[in-house]
Amino acid sequence: MANRFWCGECNYKTPWLDRSEGLRRQIEHYAHKHPGTSPAGQIETRRRGPGTRHGRLLLVAGALILLTVVAAWRH
Ligand SMILES: [Zn+2]
Repeated sequence: MANRFWCGECNYKTPWLDRSEGLRRQIEHYAHKHPGTSPAGQIETRRRGPGTRHGRLLLVAGALILLTVVAAWRH
């Protein structure tokens, strides 16, 4: 999972990063741009492409096996 941290004070957002790295960038941004303000804003999350695709393929394979088993059982 990749996370993007949005600044609560301005339009800044971090690139897609690991949660810990994104959090570090967000804190650094606050330290530079909004000193004295505690970090706030939003965290945007997305699943990583290859992992998702792999999961979907497994799901399709599982569905095909299930269909085959159901078809065999009907005969
Ligand atoms: Zn900011």
